[in-house]
Amino acid sequence: MAADTLSSLLAIYRSFLLSPSMLWVFGLSTAFVGAGVLLGMRARVLSPAAIRNSLASLAILAFNILMAPVVYVLSDLVARGYGQLGIPSIPPSAWQGVPWLVVAVVGIVAKDFADYWCHRALHTPLGWPIHAVHHSDSHVNGFTAFRVHLLEVVTMKIFYIVLLTWIGIPTQLIVAAYVVASLHTAYVHLELDIDHGPLNWLIASPRFHRWHHADAPEAYGKNLANMIPLFDLMFGTYHRHDACDEPMGALRDGIPDTDPVKLVLLPFMLWARQVRAAAATAFVRMRETFR
Ligand SMILES: [Zn+2]
Ligand SMILES: [Zn+2]
Repeated sequence: MAADTLSSLLAIYRSFLLSPSMLWVFGLSTAFVGAGVLLGMRARVLSPAAIRNSLASLAILAFNILMAPVVYVLSDLVARGYGQLGIPSIPPSAWQGVPWLVVAVVGIVAKDFADYWCHRALHTPLGWPIHAVHHSDSHVNGFTAFRVHLLEVVTMKIFYIVLLTWIGIPTQLIVAAYVVASLHTAYVHLELDIDHGPLNWLIASPRFHRWHHADAPEAYGKNLANMIPLFDLMFGTYHRHDACDEPMGALRDGIPDTDPVKLVLLPFMLWARQVRAAAATAFVRMRETFR
């Protein structure tokens, strides 16, 4: 029984991590980030603190890759849920005859819409303990794209897989949307002062996302869109696009930035702190009531 479970888990590892589409994602993302880091190399990128910081990002990536089968199984369950629960959804056959490029663009826009609302939920008190790991990076560069807690990977995937499978986007185009979004995520985190001029509202630039990571109260919870800033303009969370010289990270909030073990445990520690604070408030109220 245990051997069966282990061999099916290993099969999922092989089919998921070594599938051609995932190898493309890993290969292209690594090449892209590597080229960008080289291009954007500045003295402070190579400071000992920045190197420790980037190593923490890579350690979190390694942990997430090891846990990938869990994400795979969960995503599969969500995708099959519609049929089993009898929830009406658009079948993939509805897209037959529509040029694949149009379907791919619809998939990318729909994915970004789901990502926007998921990101917004991650900036609420309940979601922040998970997302604080991504914001912990005080040296935002290409590696920051990998500094994402496993619970955030799962949450993000559930949000967009629920939407994209519901509108019937074929699986290969969901993977294509994922590849495009992964490359773009690596791009916006590069330590480069790039702006897209008249296309700023359509495609997020490194400048746009730098403001999202700024440790400046006026920018908290702003510029939430992953790829399409139009969603921020539509839903009232747009901040600005100019050069950002604010400090990066969430050190002001007491979030650690170089310890991967603390970062993996961070959500549970922050939730425990919230529960303790709520219990203390309830206790004080109760004591006042019965005095
Ligand atoms: Zn965020
Ligand atoms: Zn980011």
